[in-house]
Amino acid sequence: MPELPEVETVRRGLEPALQGRRLTKVRVNRPDLRFPFPEDFAPRLDGARVERLERRAKYLRFALDTGETWVTHLGMTGRFTIDGVAPGEFEEPAPVGGKHEHLSLVTDQGRRIGFSDSRRFGYMALVPTAELDDHPWFRGLGPEPLGNAFNAGVLKDAFRGKKQNVKVSLLDQRIVAGLGNIYVCEALFRARVSPKTPAGKVSLPRLERLTVAVRDVLNEAVAAGGSTLRDFANAEGGQGYFQHHFDVYGREGQPCPGDCGGVVQRFVQAGRSTFWCPKCQR
Ligand SMILES: [Zn+2]
Repeated sequence: MPELPEVETVRRGLEPALQGRRLTKVRVNRPDLRFPFPEDFAPRLDGARVERLERRAKYLRFALDTGETWVTHLGMTGRFTIDGVAPGEFEEPAPVGGKHEHLSLVTDQGRRIGFSDSRRFGYMALVPTAELDDHPWFRGLGPEPLGNAFNAGVLKDAFRGKKQNVKVSLLDQRIVAGLGNIYVCEALFRARVSPKTPAGKVSLPRLERLTVAVRDVLNEAVAAGGSTLRDFANAEGGQGYFQHHFDVYGREGQPCPGDCGGVVQRFVQAGRSTFWCPKCQR
């Protein structure tokens, strides 16, 4: 499953090709992905100009001059291509083009944009832009972790009186949007906060460290091309690049990279693996 940095990498890759461009020759080659395409999807995109490309949680949102926003979730293997090349690096390889290409268009500058999705867990919608934040996919989402609205004060309020541990609380999309398991583990390690601490017991200075750590691990992953994103089930073997970018995730039994003399350990919280150093995370 592509995580937030991967989706952000795709957004940044598409922006130069799509921002301000008019969409032409839109073709949809099948009725559905995970869900059916919206009614008259191709005619509603055709001729529209893309005003801006946003990301919200793990959704791409392209605002059009028609008053609608084209929303895409990449699912597992959804890939946009620009003139045949997919922006972003993905840990889960997926074929692009050919029989897996389900949508194509040409911009008024002649760039060819495709969308392939071999497993078809991705999905698309067209939503009136004015109603976007009331849409079920977006209503109730917490602030973006890379946006200004995410800070220690907001977390302090959200965590007030909360007995649930800080690790599982950070995965709650109502508290912060789009943060996945890998990045929560990494941020807690970097801030030296124990994943077992009840959320309501984390002090404001530690929440400040934590919000900085969340931002840093995400920004570093975006800078690395979003390629640091495989689920632990697939984390064995061939992970040279992967290993360089994680301090604790997938590193059970290895020495703590903080040189505290501790060893990275794994345990399960709410059905997800937590990797941490019990010696320096308090
Ligand atoms: Zn340690």
